[in-house]
Order: sequence, then structure tokens, then C-alpha cells
Amino acid sequence: MGRIFNFSAGPATLPLEVLEQARDEMIDWQGRGVSVMEVSHRGKAFIKVAEQAEADVRELLGVPDDYAVLFLQGGATQQFALIPMNLSGPEQVVDYLVTGQWSKKASAEAKASRKVNIVADGAAGNYTDVPARASWKLSPGAAYLHYCPNETIGGLEFHEVPDVGPVPLVADMSSTILSRPVDVRKFGMIYAGAQKNIGPAGLVLMIVRRDLLERVPETVPPILRYASQAKEGSMLNTPPTYSWYIAGLVFQWLKRQGGLARIAEVNRRKAEKLYRAIDGSGYYRNPVAPAHRSWMNVPFTLPDAALDATFLAEATAAGLAELKGHRSVGGMRASIYNAMPEAGVDALAAFMADFARRHG
Ligand SMILES: *Cc1c(COP(=O)(O)O)cnc(C)c1O
Repeated sequence: MGRIFNFSAGPATLPLEVLEQARDEMIDWQGRGVSVMEVSHRGKAFIKVAEQAEADVRELLGVPDDYAVLFLQGGATQQFALIPMNLSGPEQVVDYLVTGQWSKKASAEAKASRKVNIVADGAAGNYTDVPARASWKLSPGAAYLHYCPNETIGGLEFHEVPDVGPVPLVADMSSTILSRPVDVRKFGMIYAGAQKNIGPAGLVLMIVRRDLLERVPETVPPILRYASQAKEGSMLNTPPTYSWYIAGLVFQWLKRQGGLARIAEVNRRKAEKLYRAIDGSGYYRNPVAPAHRSWMNVPFTLPDAALDATFLAEATAAGLAELKGHRSVGGMRASIYNAMPEAGVDALAAFMADFARRHG
């Protein structure tokens, strides 16, 4: 069996070239007679991998020098809990904008340690739109404002960075990082679990303004402090070396594609093709406000949920896999991250048209 088109939301498809390189280097990495996952993280060879990965992230995203780049463990969800502990004092208020399942989870984790102010919550509209900016209730003196630029489950994306004044903006970019250029200066912190657009699970990429690291209260244990990780090159303990290595290969693949401006053009085109296949069908439906439709995660429903199983079975048989929507939304979801080839989107659009013709 060959490769299929894998629309999984995460862990998600990786570039074939990256997998091929990893396969070729698996047994005998750089002529060392060992794999990269069998060497010390403190040895020269791995340090080079780690430093190159950081340099490539800095180049791809244009990360300024006064921002640290960290490679952490625990997934994005663990950061939901650690961010308030690191970036605010115990008595400070933290602001959360809730636009879907992930930003809601982030606010719930923060509530365990801090006073959380919900700036706005899109629940009433079933998270299909971003609450109007004029309705946001920012708290004066908030330590930061957290939001999720791309809600992976609902398929709701911010195509502009919201203006929140001087309060540091903290962004969970797990499912949109590296999909387009961003102005890092507009953020206090950007973080992302790796398994959508970066590499294998087990790694979190974090970009954080260095002055914010100084806020960490004395009561936070050293291993949980971003400031300590920044000082020690993200190697307070053994990092997930293999995930870090694969992430590095993905960064180099992105550079070979022409960088983020070029990738963004492809991503925009892929998303437009899919939304056209939905809107133009008179059969499929996507509920998200057009101005906030995600380039990365495209949920859609069939006119009759009773046909979902047939759709999924036929799609799988056609080499189009993992299209089942999240249980909280239902229907289908096509995740079309950087590594999904445009041919995969073309194949899905053609399949959808054919399916609608036969079942419509
Ligand atoms: C997948 C995802 C998460 C959770 O990531 P884990 O690594 O499983 O903790 C958090 N936020 C967003 C936006 C995601 O897409």
C-alpha cells in the first residue's frame, strides 16, 4: 500500500520528503552508526540539530532577538496550566477570549491558579463567529490576553491579529503556526503543540518575549519555569530529541518550499478550493462566518447525517482518510495543514462532487 491523503487533525500528515529523509537516516545517522534518537542530547551532534532548528524557526518567522525560542514537553494543554503560573502573579487577573473548544480549555486550566476574566465568549453563536471587538471586556491591568488564532475543532480562524492595546497577547497557534507569515512583535508569546504543523507529538514550540520570563513567581518549581528553560537551551532535562530532529527537517522543508509567504499562497488556494467545493455544491455546508473560515481545518456537514458513514467509507476506499469531524461538531472535517499536497485537496473536492451527484 502506498501513501494516502491523510486529513487527520492531529497528529497530522508530514511532508513525504521529510519522512523519506528520516527513513534514510534511521539506522545510520550522518555516518555515525547510530540513529539520532540514540545519542546524548548534550553531545555536539545533537546540539547542532537543536541550534539549527532554532535558527530556522527564527528565519522562517522573523523572530526578533529579544524573543526566546523554546522547545518544550507536555503538549499545548500543559502550557494552558503553565502560562498563567509563569506570566502572572497569584493576585493578578488574566484575560481569556473564548472562541471555541481550545480557548475554552485554556481558560479552564488557568482558572485553577488565577482569576480569569472571560473577555468574550462565542458560545451563543455556537463558536461560528468571533464576538464583535466592541463587545470585548478587557480587564484593566490584566497580565496578558490569551486567545486561539485557529480553533482546530470549529474551523474558526483570525486572519488579522486582534488589537488589544498594550496588554501582551498570548496565542495558542497549535494548528496555524508556520502556515503564513506573522509579525511576532505583535505577540508577547506564541506557542504550538508540534503534531499539527511542525512534527511528531511530544514537543511544543514556544516563542516568548524575554522580559515576560522575568515575571515568574518564586513559588513555581524550577522545572516548570520558562525562564530556566530559556537559560538552559530547553535542556533542563532530556528533551524529546527525535521530535525535535523531525521538526528541524520540517523547517528545512519549509525553507525549500520558499518560506512562509510562499506556503501561505498555497494554503490560501487550497482552502479556497475546498470552500468553493462546499458552497458551490448546494449539498455540503460549512457554518463558519466567511471572514473567519480557517485555512487549516475545514468542517462540513452533509444534508443528512445518516449518510456520514457511507461518505467516510467511500472516501477511505478512495484514499482520502481521517475525514470524520470532531464529536462535538459532527459531520466531516478536512485538516489541510502545510504538508497536505494541493493534489490531496483536488482529489477531495472531486470526490465530494461525485458523492453529491450520486447521493444528492
Ligand atoms: C491540538 C490542540 C491543542 C492540544 O494539544 P496537546 O498537544 O494534545 O495538548 C491545543 N490547542 C490547539 C489549538 C490544538 O489544535
